[in-house]
Amino acid sequence: MSTIKELENKLREVEKEIKQVDVELYKWRKRQQHLHERKTELINSINTVKSNNLASVDWAGTEYEWSEKVKNILQESFKIPSFRPKQLSAINSTLSGQHAIVVMPTGAGKSLCYQLPALIKPGLTVVISPLVSLMEDQVRSLSKKNIPAKLMTSTSTKEETMAALNMLKDKNCPIQLLYVTPERLAKSKRFMSNLQKCHSEGRLQRIAIDEVHCCSQWGHDFRPDYKYLGVLTNLFPNIPLLGLTATATSHVLNDVQKILNIPGCLIIKSTFNRPNLYYKILEKPTSQEECLKILEKLLKYRYNGESGIIYTHSIKDAEDITEGLRKRGLKVGCYHANMEASARSSVHSKWHDKHYQAIVATVAFGMGIDKPDVRFVIHHTISKSMENYYQESGRAGRDGKRAECVTLYGMQDLFKVSTMVFSSVGSLDHLYGMVKYCLNGTLCRRQLIAQHFDEDWGTADCNKMCDVCSHPISNVRDINLVPHCKTLSSILENAEKLDTKLTAQKLLDAWFLKGPVNLRNKGKEPSFSRNIGEDVIAFLLTESYLMEDFHYTAYSTISYIKNGPNMDNTSELMMPIRKYSSFELQEKAPNHFNSPVITDAELCMESKESKLKKRKSKESSPDISAKKSKKSKPIIIDDDD
Ligand code: ADP
Ligand code: MG
Ligand code: ZN
Repeated sequence: MSTIKELENKLREVEKEIKQVDVELYKWRKRQQHLHERKTELINSINTVKSNNLASVDWAGTEYEWSEKVKNILQESFKIPSFRPKQLSAINSTLSGQHAIVVMPTGAGKSLCYQLPALIKPGLTVVISPLVSLMEDQVRSLSKKNIPAKLMTSTSTKEETMAALNMLKDKNCPIQLLYVTPERLAKSKRFMSNLQKCHSEGRLQRIAIDEVHCCSQWGHDFRPDYKYLGVLTNLFPNIPLLGLTATATSHVLNDVQKILNIPGCLIIKSTFNRPNLYYKILEKPTSQEECLKILEKLLKYRYNGESGIIYTHSIKDAEDITEGLRKRGLKVGCYHANMEASARSSVHSKWHDKHYQAIVATVAFGMGIDKPDVRFVIHHTISKSMENYYQESGRAGRDGKRAECVTLYGMQDLFKVSTMVFSSVGSLDHLYGMVKYCLNGTLCRRQLIAQHFDEDWGTADCNKMCDVCSHPISNVRDINLVPHCKTLSSILENAEKLDTKLTAQKLLDAWFLKGPVNLRNKGKEPSFSRNIGEDVIAFLLTESYLMEDFHYTAYSTISYIKNGPNMDNTSELMMPIRKYSSFELQEKAPNHFNSPVITDAELCMESKESKLKKRKSKESSPDISAKKSKKSKPIIIDDDD
């Protein structure tokens, strides 16, 4: 028998070896993680090359066997004289049996890319769409054109559902477009088995997936049921999928291809530039009263007689602002998700008929807006991402005439939004992208939007249609942030020692020698205004020199500020001081809204042709369900008259 001592020695040896193995394992895990990342990168690169190869084919030809019929149906059934850029490419590619994803801005005409091909050959096109109201709109407008289409949703009656199910089995069915919600595919066995029968008899033409970014958690609109769409390529081999979206980031597009099982598919993308939209940031006052004054002036003078939208952050804001503007004699309607459907549609139509000058809405007011002459979209609070901002502001100027997108920005709103969104993946990065856009005072705003969509629009493309380009600042002053970072960091460290957490406002107080003495900056007050101080804090947050630290209380979430990962390497850091250019609130908007700046064909995007011609001739929620607002005030439902 060994002695205890001997056994203990052996134990120590074994423990030592375990430690060594741990170290090795750690190294190997790191290596494994690195290899996985590298693998994903390579797969993405291969897919990008595949997509690029497919995209280098000219899909816009008119020599296909179906080309004549495509042209006739466009004009005779859809009563549309000509295609917008990339529509024909999308149509030819799906008719050729390619899987494809069509990326076009909202309003550019993605629906036609699947509606028209559905009518070219016999058989069925299934359209998956996330919103029942959108499907109803489409089926209605197709019926008006004598194009038979059906839909099947959770709200369909038993009879309607039976009819749709039977249709899938019926060889002589005249219907060529069937709209379904994603749940149907995810959950209805009956539907799926009938669809398989339809497929096995060779009658399934293609599956179109509208708002296809809803597959991806990286997008702004993730829908769990969209995840199941990955089974389609397995269940229906050789059936082309056609995804459609206005989300263009490569991250989301890669993700969508992976989820749908169509890696390296053809991507058809049109430019996102909206040349007729003027982009502008206005400094947002802290008091609601002052904000209302700005809105009042804009509506009474600058946008007198024109239609627009005012987007707000919460239901309570929407109600308060509606009330405030009505008190100032303006005709505005309120719109949010807590209202009855009938009240919402009444507000919508009163705005449509110009009875209301503006709708004051949460982001619930969005899909299905089909008003071409929206002359202004004002963001009373910043959007939660550039993606959302582009969608929301993009509802202006669908008719191609000049329209203005004005955003009120103040640092306080950064935290209003961050405390609402912080818990979902990637949301803070998205928000900081929006904040960077607002803080910027030196680069063309279009350039920043283009960067977001991985595009290069060139500087000439702005045509002075943003506040930066129309009022260039000659000598921009840069602030050297290095000493300020040191100060801020020491204020935060000192507060931590005192077991105190600082919000941005408290941090600013301490920095500008206000508030409790023991928290204050030990040095001098900065030589610039507190407003610039706010910009500095926001800038440092977007660049990870500072970061937000969220804490729940019983009633709300609070964002405290702490040092961020980049705070240690502040050897060089400059920030250009932003200046707001003047914007005459009391003047009529320039260029008179009535004179078109671009032609209809150039709306949303400029085709190669139109660019050539030019050269030749001259040269898209969530409402914050403001629970409190329900108690504090009755919901305004369209009650002005
Ligand atoms: P998206 O889905 O891209 O947001 P829609 O498909 O809803 O856009 O189309 C927006 C509007 O543009 C519709 O009223 C549609 O009839 C119209 N439209 C589509 N294509 C054309 C075209 N080639 N010429 C003129 N109008 C078009
Ligand atoms: Mg659409
Ligand atoms: Zn510009």
